Amino acid sequence: MAEEQSEVKRTEIHELGEFALIEHLSQDFVTQQTSTIKAIGDDAAVIHPSDAMMLVSTDLLIEGIHFDLIYTPLKHLGYKCVVVNLSDIYAMNAFPTQITVSIAVSNRFSVEALEELYDGIRTACDHYKVDLIGGDTTSSPKGLVISITAIGKQVNEKIVYRSGAKHGDQIYVSGELGAAYLGLQLLEREKQIYLSDPKIKVDLENQQYIIGKFLKPEAARQCIFQLAKAEITPTCMIDLSDGLSSDLLHICKQSNCGAIIFEENVPINTEAQLMAIKFNLDPITCALNGGEDYELLFTASDEDSDKLRFIPGVYHIGEIVDANHGIKLRTNAGKFHPITAQGWKHF
Ligand code: ADP
Ligand code: MG
Repeated sequence: MAEEQSEVKRTEIHELGEFALIEHLSQDFVTQQTSTIKAIGDDAAVIHPSDAMMLVSTDLLIEGIHFDLIYTPLKHLGYKCVVVNLSDIYAMNAFPTQITVSIAVSNRFSVEALEELYDGIRTACDHYKVDLIGGDTTSSPKGLVISITAIGKQVNEKIVYRSGAKHGDQIYVSGELGAAYLGLQLLEREKQIYLSDPKIKVDLENQQYIIGKFLKPEAARQCIFQLAKAEITPTCMIDLSDGLSSDLLHICKQSNCGAIIFEENVPINTEAQLMAIKFNLDPITCALNGGEDYELLFTASDEDSDKLRFIPGVYHIGEIVDANHGIKLRTNAGKFHPITAQGWKHF
């Protein structure tokens, strides 16, 4: 599947050596942020902080645990690794400005393979206007490890925490849910078929939307721009990496509140719904428990409801209640079911 295509020309990493490799991989990166004083090339990067607060978020991604190179092209992987980090900065209602990228690679990977990875990283940096300002490169006995740190900024009053939701606040998401999970199910099914008999043709059923949501997600920055334009500061916010259920539970725990989600309001793309049914899954279960959508889940004061109704792509899915009411799904039939965390577990 994905990995084979990249093995046309093969330059071993040791032929270049560490320093030439770093130079080679980083040569096409240009910095865009005025706060970046020194990027790659010295012992440390130098950032000129603005008068805003600085935000920092890190992710560690391990081959075989967080990604599978059988169906993940390296360029997509590079793009996605950056996006999921930027998503954490946007989830604070802040704007990302710089990233660092550290990698550990085994000799299974060629220079060309790393070029693909960095091609994806650069595409994401260009798209989101963040600067790659450094990192570290080392060898690993087996597989690929990627660690990305994202740096962002926002003025103190506009930073949004997980802990700010209040009784009466309304709950919103920035886009459709469940598609990434279904994309993954489809890729996993084809992987199993491929492993059992590589001669059987891979059939991804023309499902670009759900597969794209999994392999090449975008961070919900449009939502952050729109909220800023409408002069709305959410009361709390989190990005949906583990799934609506488990991320909502984080919010409720940290805000000491309960929540009601209205089943009929949860946005699920039609292709995702059809694929769920094909897999004998309930679409709403996929939307609640599927991970990696990278949409934003946020709450806002009821006073902002009218303004929020006109923000494209934002869906009103429920409301915050007192903690003693618990966290529940109100089904289309009007019944209430407790929502429990069934998010993705890597352990
Ligand atoms: P040191 O030995 O001081 O750690 P390195 O030789 O590792 O320095 O790094 C040299 C420069 O290249 C530094 O600016 C570092 O941030 C950058 N760098 C190293 N590895 C990477 C990488 N994988 N991606 C981006 N920049 C990197
Ligand atoms: Mg180093």
